[in-house]
Amino acid sequence: MKLGELVKKYNLETTGQTQLELKVVKETLFDEKLRILVDTYETFQKERVRAGNRILMIAKGRDNADEIRGEFLTLLCEMEDIERKIAKDIEAHLKNNPVYADFLKHIKGVGPLLSARLMALPLRLGEHLSSWNAYFGLTPYYWKAVCENGHKILYSKEVGTCRVCGGAIVKLEKVEGAPRRVAGYQTFWNPYARKTAFLMGKQFIKLGTRGYYGRVYRNAKQRYSAKYPNEKPFLIDARAVRSAVKLFIAHFHQAVHDIYGIPVSKPYAFEYLAHEDFISWREVVRIEKAYME
Ligand SMILES: [Zn+2]
Repeated sequence: MKLGELVKKYNLETTGQTQLELKVVKETLFDEKLRILVDTYETFQKERVRAGNRILMIAKGRDNADEIRGEFLTLLCEMEDIERKIAKDIEAHLKNNPVYADFLKHIKGVGPLLSARLMALPLRLGEHLSSWNAYFGLTPYYWKAVCENGHKILYSKEVGTCRVCGGAIVKLEKVEGAPRRVAGYQTFWNPYARKTAFLMGKQFIKLGTRGYYGRVYRNAKQRYSAKYPNEKPFLIDARAVRSAVKLFIAHFHQAVHDIYGIPVSKPYAFEYLAHEDFISWREVVRIEKAYME
């Protein structure tokens, strides 16, 4: 069945404009429409990049453009148009979101797509920052556990009983460093969230000194280089990126709860002041707005 027929049959809206009802629902941040828009955008992008690479390969092997290649190029350009359209739709959708309007929009390095990725995460509201960090895979260490019934699970906190069956833990090992997938073990982080954190880190690196988190990254890199002179540069870099992203997540956590007016049970100082020189998200927005190149 053709798409147009499907739309008719199920009486779907085809006006294109997405309209967000501002419902502060909410147990989680999850915005389903945003997730669908971002997924669609990324699928198109992936296909276009893949097709583009293939054309490049063909082009490298031939001297003259041929007709088939020409046809493909036209199609690819159309795909780009569609991507742009979806990106616009995402922005229109985000405009009504107060976390975007008051916080994310002002943060350099976090554009509409990353914002949409963040707002589409089923992060639980009212939960502690440490739970959010675990969800993003941003923990300094983790535990490898096996229970009496053989469940193998990675945990972000030390546990006494199995998350699945409640059975006793018979093997427990603390592992230092950023969590890694271990064959046969369930993970505690969400792969989509972790990818989002990774993409954000890449943006913060690119920023240079232009954005607040770009400067946080650079300063952290200097600090860690001085503190760990024998560590390999790529590990220093990974550490610095992680700390910039983690600080961003702390501000994001604070902004979301402030803006939606949802209390977090742990005291402010305990949650946020674990970060060196923590300033509030409002202050970060002020700095981003004031910064001139
Ligand atoms: Zn178990």
